[in-house]
Amino acid sequence: MTITDHCVVSLQYTLTNPEGETLDQSKPGEPLVYLHGASNLIPGVEKALTGKSVGDEFSIVVAPEEGYGVRDEKLRQKLPMSEFEGFMDIEPGVEFRVDDDDGNVEYFTIVEVNGDEVTVDGNHELAGITLHFDIRIESIRKATPEEIAHGHVHGPGHCH
Ligand code: ZN
Repeated sequence: MTITDHCVVSLQYTLTNPEGETLDQSKPGEPLVYLHGASNLIPGVEKALTGKSVGDEFSIVVAPEEGYGVRDEKLRQKLPMSEFEGFMDIEPGVEFRVDDDDGNVEYFTIVEVNGDEVTVDGNHELAGITLHFDIRIESIRKATPEEIAHGHVHGPGHCH
């Protein structure tokens, strides 16, 4: 069986940046389980996984455009402290969401606090980074009709 749309895939992965630092990895015995073809993973990874089989082990390089996007410097903004009235913590690393008038939700992270000035960044933390993945396919099965309808995997550790 090879990976096609509507397959549930279990895999082990290690994600490193171009400097070779590990950014993220699955734990032994706890593979990443996802529904293929439902945009559950970044496009560059789904593309590379299509057609692979159980036991396949490979490395891929994913450009930002096929990963978490390029950085948008407009999403990095300096705001006056007065905009944060009512916030519990105003310190680097704190994430918050903004609902705009059109019903869009954006997530920002406070990256710097300098006196009365707060710098926030709405880029994904991996935006603009070329990602290196080492991947090993552990198992592949057909998704259930319910999983396909929901667009995600069901089972232990998942949403239902
Ligand atoms: Zn569901």
